[in-house]
Amino acid sequence: TPRIGVLALQGDFREHAIVLRGLGADVVNVRRPEELAAVDGLILPGGESSVQDKLSRTFGLAEPLKQAIASGLPVYGTCAGLIFLADRITDGIAGQQTLGGLDVVVRRNAFGSQLDSFETDLDVPVLGGEPVHAVFIRAPVVDTLGPRATALASLADGRVVAVEQGNLLGTAFHPEVTGDIRFHAYFLDKVRAHAA
Ligand code: GLN
Repeated sequence: TPRIGVLALQGDFREHAIVLRGLGADVVNVRRPEELAAVDGLILPGGESSVQDKLSRTFGLAEPLKQAIASGLPVYGTCAGLIFLADRITDGIAGQQTLGGLDVVVRRNAFGSQLDSFETDLDVPVLGGEPVHAVFIRAPVVDTLGPRATALASLADGRVVAVEQGNLLGTAFHPEVTGDIRFHAYFLDKVRAHAA
């Protein structure tokens, strides 16, 4: 049984835990380096990336997280979590840092007031079958996709909203709130493959 950590500093980590338990994973909240050291995979939840950045540094987790990513730990970031995984942000607040690892530049607040939050159906070929109903909440987009990252899904206008790079996975939207568990199942497959 894969043991999945959810970074539980801020944001919607509880929703992720529910989905992962439904898929049969052992789920633990990660707030300390010892907890991080004991997981086979990690979720970076949605929320507010600048707050997650500050708290992770305050709690002494930022460096262990960067090391875990560099050492190949499977990590899936949704929304703020995608921002946190990105190598660079175009519109971070002053002093905002990221963990990095994902070869992308993200725009944190890519959708103006009226499109602050919206839902749309996305083709995600790697998941097969039906389109994914995607919920965007003050969502980022990938502005620049680096050569090491691959796009998994784009909006109708071509902007990239789901990416993969080795053991890293990121979505600008929130599968943990829709009942469509395919992204989490896809992530668990990565975790199992990595652990095997
Ligand atoms: N825009 C938020 C940020 O900068 C992310 C919003 C979300 O996670 N739903 O962190």
